[in-house]
Amino acid sequence: MDKLTLEKLSIPGKKILTRVDFNVPISTSGAIEDDTRIRAAVPTILYILKHGGSIILMSHLGRPDGKKNHSLSLEPCAKALSQILHKDVKFVHDCIGKDVDDVCSHVSPGDIILLENLRFHPEEESGDEAFASKLASLGDLYVNDAFGCAHRDHASVVGITKFFPGKAVAGLLMRKEIDFLGRLLQNPKRPFCAVIGGAKISTKIGTLKALLKKVDILIIGGAMAYTFMKSQSMEIGSSLHEDKFLKEASDIIAESVKNGVELLLPIDSIVASEISDTAKAEVYAGSVPEGYFGADIGPETIKLFTSAIEKSQTILWNGPMGVFEKKPFASGTEAIAKCIASSKGVTIVGGGDTLSAIAAAGIGDQFTHVSTGGGASLEFLEFGTLPGVEALS
Ligand code: AMP
Repeated sequence: MDKLTLEKLSIPGKKILTRVDFNVPISTSGAIEDDTRIRAAVPTILYILKHGGSIILMSHLGRPDGKKNHSLSLEPCAKALSQILHKDVKFVHDCIGKDVDDVCSHVSPGDIILLENLRFHPEEESGDEAFASKLASLGDLYVNDAFGCAHRDHASVVGITKFFPGKAVAGLLMRKEIDFLGRLLQNPKRPFCAVIGGAKISTKIGTLKALLKKVDILIIGGAMAYTFMKSQSMEIGSSLHEDKFLKEASDIIAESVKNGVELLLPIDSIVASEISDTAKAEVYAGSVPEGYFGADIGPETIKLFTSAIEKSQTILWNGPMGVFEKKPFASGTEAIAKCIASSKGVTIVGGGDTLSAIAAAGIGDQFTHVSTGGGASLEFLEFGTLPGVEALS
């Protein structure tokens, strides 16, 4: 990447203000359900400590809508990080204000501080300059290692960088993510296959259009496939779809023909009259009958998709193939996950639900690159850069 990275900074004795993405799933009892994002920041943290710096970490967690909310406190993340590093992590109960200033002005090399959830202040999401300036006053240098938030124009991601001219750099995780995705856009081994699923076409339409210019094969599963099928006048019963995007869907199909991209849609579905753990699931070829939901890809579709994946050298996957959270509709996502995991090509996976699906299948470590940012990776594929990356020195 053409941005300053951590290795270019002189760290000894400096306070390094570091934006991380500790937006982890937390249960109602306050337990961290998946600490992947905390572990992903560890290389940058260790690098700073090894080079004689102290580190002030800042992150958001969930959507507190600008208000304090105990259930979205980052305190459990401080404990988890402390256990991972076998080292004290001091937690401060706010991210700006006198207490924070006091703690941060007394740090010594080797100290680790974690500030409270940035989004308890509405100024974080509105990108407020005064708020960004208060955060900036806490450190000597700024590192952004929060790839998962780099598509956000928030105070701690973009606004803050102007207070660190020549000293706002990418962390090790940020660089790894950008390098992987950048290579994917510039020089993928072919055939290059993208597997896109999930609920809505509306959230991925830009990425789909961008991918049409890059890939050889575009596989579309999940609920969004039903918008494509309806756009071709197929019966889709009560399946989740977006009527507003029928024209966009048929344009994408036409564009794929023009670009010589092999676009694959489901040829059969697992359907049911309700979506629940006890639903009676049936296989239906082609269309979905009235009164039924298409909730997963069927066995013939699995064969079709896996044979396309098997012949590909680069595979990008984002979004489940069905309602994988419910047992009767989990097999399509699991089959595709296992097929991609066993590929000898370059495999890149992103998206919160996709990561949950590969974790549930016990294959989370069998991909070339597992991206920590779902929305960020899609926006990077669409635009080739992200606001949080552009803002760096
Ligand atoms: P997204 O956030 O767009 O990647 O969507 C993920 C969600 O899509 C998951 O919660 C899945 O349950 C849901 N999903 C995938 N396929 C279907 C489907 N056929 N019908 C309804 N929801 C689906």
